[in-house]
Amino acid sequence: MTPETLQRGRLGIFGGTFDPIHIGHLRAVMEVAEELELAQVLFMPCHQPPHPKDVRASAAHRLEMVRRAVNDNPRFGVSDLEVRRPGKSYAVDSLEEFSRLHPGRPLYWLIGADAFFALHQWYQPRRLFDLADFVVMTRPGSPGRDLREYLSHYLDPAFAPADNAWVRLPNGHGAKLLTTTLLDISSTDIRRRAAQGRSLTYLVPPEVEDYICEMKLYETPEGED
Ligand code: ATP
Ligand code: MG
Repeated sequence: MTPETLQRGRLGIFGGTFDPIHIGHLRAVMEVAEELELAQVLFMPCHQPPHPKDVRASAAHRLEMVRRAVNDNPRFGVSDLEVRRPGKSYAVDSLEEFSRLHPGRPLYWLIGADAFFALHQWYQPRRLFDLADFVVMTRPGSPGRDLREYLSHYLDPAFAPADNAWVRLPNGHGAKLLTTTLLDISSTDIRRRAAQGRSLTYLVPPEVEDYICEMKLYETPEGED
């Protein structure tokens, strides 16, 4: 891929707490990038999740782990846009900034099914679909709900079935479920293992495992620091 294609092609954005990033994230995104021919995917750790959630590692550590995890993949990159923005990280603010930075470039927000079916609790969820398309990745244990039924019930009754299994609004934006390889890996489980001094090998990339060890992240059990 030429640098020019990277600048202009479809841009994927993958937001999360990444506390820490793991193989479940990386593999699912790889499959989406391939399937939808995304020129580039930017992994974007949040500064502060909008919904109450214990975040253990600092934004700087989470960003650094993501950086190390994607470093060897030319199609993957990191965005520090949310980490640099003080306060809660709202996706709609980030997408507005991305569309200002990349006018006319199609934006795809990548999200796991567990997070997607809570979208109606996000800040201004309907506005997200004025800015980007949503690609929903399957995840073990997440609800096997119908995207159109969910979106038309909670966000806008105008969501309708479209080409290639997309569900779209009249403005052209929409969502699609992609069946990605089901990897039952979560950051919660990884933090628990780290606190117990157990191995993280094959759950996170080696660079991330080394970093967690070096920086002594997650050594104390959840809720004890
Ligand atoms: P935690 O257990 O702390 O919530 P997590 O593993 O869910 O961590 P997040 O940073 O919360 O990771 O997730 C970021 C995004 O990645 C979310 O959209 C989530 O649905 C998705 N995701 C996380 N793990 C997987 C997985 N194993 N397969 C597919 N998608 C995933
Ligand atoms: Mg999660």
